[in-house]
Amino acid sequence: MKMQFPVEAFAAIETPFYYYDVELLQATLDTVKREAARYEGFHVHYAIKANFNPRLLEIISKAGIGADCVSGGEVRAALNAGVPADKVVFAGVGKTDKEIAFSLDAGIFCFNVESVPEIEAIERLAAERGVVAQIAVRVNPNVGAHTHANITTGLAENKFGVNYEQLDEVIDVVETMPHLKLVGLHFHIGSQLLVMDDFIALCCRINELQELLLETRGLVLPHINVGGGLGIRYDFPDKYPIPDFEAYFATYANNLKLHPGQQLHFELGRSIVAQCGALITRATYIKSGTCKQFIIVDAGMNDLIRPALYDAYHRIENLVSDKPDGVYDVVGPVCESSDVFCKDRRIPVTERGDILAIRSAGAYGEAMAFGYNCRELPKAVLSTDL
Ligand SMILES: *Cc1c(COP(=O)(O)O)cnc(C)c1O
Repeated sequence: MKMQFPVEAFAAIETPFYYYDVELLQATLDTVKREAARYEGFHVHYAIKANFNPRLLEIISKAGIGADCVSGGEVRAALNAGVPADKVVFAGVGKTDKEIAFSLDAGIFCFNVESVPEIEAIERLAAERGVVAQIAVRVNPNVGAHTHANITTGLAENKFGVNYEQLDEVIDVVETMPHLKLVGLHFHIGSQLLVMDDFIALCCRINELQELLLETRGLVLPHINVGGGLGIRYDFPDKYPIPDFEAYFATYANNLKLHPGQQLHFELGRSIVAQCGALITRATYIKSGTCKQFIIVDAGMNDLIRPALYDAYHRIENLVSDKPDGVYDVVGPVCESSDVFCKDRRIPVTERGDILAIRSAGAYGEAMAFGYNCRELPKAVLSTDL
């Protein structure tokens, strides 16, 4: 199953817009559920920050998947989409009182806490309400992942989590707090990880840590949350439309030593939504420079910032040209030199008005769009709308 483009229907739609193939999303969700269900106690949460389009959230929520949130707004979006509060987890280094209070009132499953002052804030707000908040400590496993420096999160120098050496002290603090219940440990080592060795390295760290906690404190926690990070193939979206969830879950099943009854949670973002989305854009002009040919499209870095922010690769296809390849830089209209989608790329010879698809844009695309240059936010079209 690869992503389908109803090009004739696109002709009547103003560009740029995000297009989502609902059938591919559904097939991806079915695969995630089927592969996770092979193992006892595996739970999947969708990381909302990858794409919070409310119509996609509803489809994902209907599949029975929980939600991983990094702001009060995301907790609200999850609940609005029908995710039950007891399947919502809330992570993030900077949770405000307002966000914590909202989440306590909603009765979410767990706060993934990242510092002692945050633990104190949750204790105070839970006490005011006479409730007990479930928390998991986010541990920084100091595992370097093979990915872009801006999306690796599990190193001691990163702002996320509590360092390994500080964990004992943090647990001591939590144990003095009557309105907090420590239920788990949380980890997240980075994003766009395609090498299973990175996840194996995480499993090894967790195994060590679990042994240590058992030995030194007699502590076994009911939940382990390993975060997300499974990558997708930006280079071959049609060959790999659905990530290898089988290998992903098997890696954890084979390498992580869980205690009897211990539940394992995953927070997958990109791998669920990236391949079902594309940014559809028209060629506004073809411009010949002295040494370059440019396709100037009507989508810009404000619609899809990944190339400018992370130097990210996206396949770009001309959906209407069957001419031989030319060599182009595809650029947006925004007044920034970094508003470039690709350089020196072979793309069929393109004319003004041609419709192009920037592929694998379902994750961290629409969610990161902004209005710079007074540009309108991109619209979203679902395959089921046409
Ligand atoms: C961003 C994030 C995820 C999802 O990462 P993906 O690479 O999109 O799977 C999961 N957990 C946490 C805590 C995150 O911040």
